[in-house]
Amino acid sequence: MYDLYIGIDDTDSRDGMCTTYICSVIIDELKHFGFKVTDYPRLIRLNPFARFKTRGNGALSFKLKLKSQNDMAKVKEIVLKRIEELSELEDEMTNPGIVFYCGQITEKFKSYSLEAIRDILSIEDAERFADEIGAQYFKFKKGRGIIGALAAIGCPNTDRTYELLAYRIPENYGNPRKIDYESVFEMNKSTYPDTFDNVNCDNGYIAIEPHTPCPILYGIRGESPEAVENANKMIKVYEPIEKIAIFETNQHTDMHLIRAHKISDLEQFKCYIIEGEVKNFPYTREGGHVIFILEDDSGEIPCAAYEPTKEFREIVRKLAPGDKLRVYGGIGEKGTLNIEKFEILELAKIFKSQNPLCKCGKRMKSAGSGKGYKCIKCGAKLKDGIKNTFQIKREIKKGLYEVPPSARRHLSKPLVRMN
Ligand SMILES: [Zn+2]
Repeated sequence: MYDLYIGIDDTDSRDGMCTTYICSVIIDELKHFGFKVTDYPRLIRLNPFARFKTRGNGALSFKLKLKSQNDMAKVKEIVLKRIEELSELEDEMTNPGIVFYCGQITEKFKSYSLEAIRDILSIEDAERFADEIGAQYFKFKKGRGIIGALAAIGCPNTDRTYELLAYRIPENYGNPRKIDYESVFEMNKSTYPDTFDNVNCDNGYIAIEPHTPCPILYGIRGESPEAVENANKMIKVYEPIEKIAIFETNQHTDMHLIRAHKISDLEQFKCYIIEGEVKNFPYTREGGHVIFILEDDSGEIPCAAYEPTKEFREIVRKLAPGDKLRVYGGIGEKGTLNIEKFEILELAKIFKSQNPLCKCGKRMKSAGSGKGYKCIKCGAKLKDGIKNTFQIKREIKKGLYEVPPSARRHLSKPLVRMN
């Protein structure tokens, strides 16, 4: 007996199919032929800023127990045939890669995976690594998928979550999904926080439902296979479900974040945990995006709460110069740090000063530099008057704040999972 790991990535396109679906079709077929699939298949999310990412940038892997070399040949035949048949090969952006690997998941293998999750690797990097560890790979077209296929096999899931996916029958792909929203709220009420990110409580948004024409009807995220299975029993739908599959994932673990020590070390297309001080009062840009500058001794970076983060922007607007923050987020196209969550470590004291009040009750005006104040109502003068300075009450408290589930990145850890 020996273990065979199979990794699959980049079989889907932006508007159809889904690598998780292809993976579960393949697993069902292998089981049908009597092969033993052990453990849950794994859905591993890679760097959200990798430029050629597929939708959601997720790669898949699973493990088989095999007896002979003949078994190996049969498995390869089944897997490759199905990939060829079900991948969206006509889409220019779809470049599937499949990896077969027998052996140990070494520390080096884990490091490769973490690099694919935190950095951006090339197809050549992946080929070099596969050759080095003796993994066999198959590339369709450019075969970019081998980067993620390898990463999905080697990913160290020290922290992990589970996602249960319900798939639609093909006739319904592209049609509006018929999910009973009431049942989703009920499910959330009785299973949270064992399941999470089911709904946005503030605005009634259902987060388990995708918004692409893919085969997925809904996905339930949770802490254990039992939690998502139990929650699934509570969901009512008004359309047939073709099948259900549960994946072990690195979603919601913050595995993509690199702890950075100074702002000048930050690089575009990577995700970080970084501390700094708010430099200016946040302002709202066209499109409803809220921006402020974070600075430290080494430099500064604009931080953004984009429009889709909705009510989260209200919290960001309450920040003030001098506030000390720990920000979690990634640096995108425009060199701006997209905030996933932040912690207020220290709140700055904010003061406001006003001219003195006149005896008549009117607020006085400056009489010119060094000349004190005068009243425009009664004409009184105050030569040695001084401004009244007072502290403004802050509308925000120290602590952690996060974007709503509808705006959460797959990899981003919700506060309910922190500590
Ligand atoms: Zn007066």
